[in-house]
Amino acid sequence: MQYKMQGVPSFYIEGDIIVGFDKNKLMQYMDFKLFTCPKCQTKSRVPKGKGTILMTCKGCETKYKIKT
Ligand SMILES: [Zn+2]
Repeated sequence: MQYKMQGVPSFYIEGDIIVGFDKNKLMQYMDFKLFTCPKCQTKSRVPKGKGTILMTCKGCETKYKIKT
């Protein structure tokens, strides 16, 4: 996800806005993937590299498989 704000590349990740390229902060988020619940569209951040896991939505408790 990338939004352009006043010519500066900005990233909006789960409530945190990163303006510009703060590498350390970005790297911190690179280890995660965002998944969207197929039922209620609640977004969840899941660490990468866990293989296929069964995700339980924190919004509606729907279970769905994700590949991390
Ligand atoms: Zn849900």
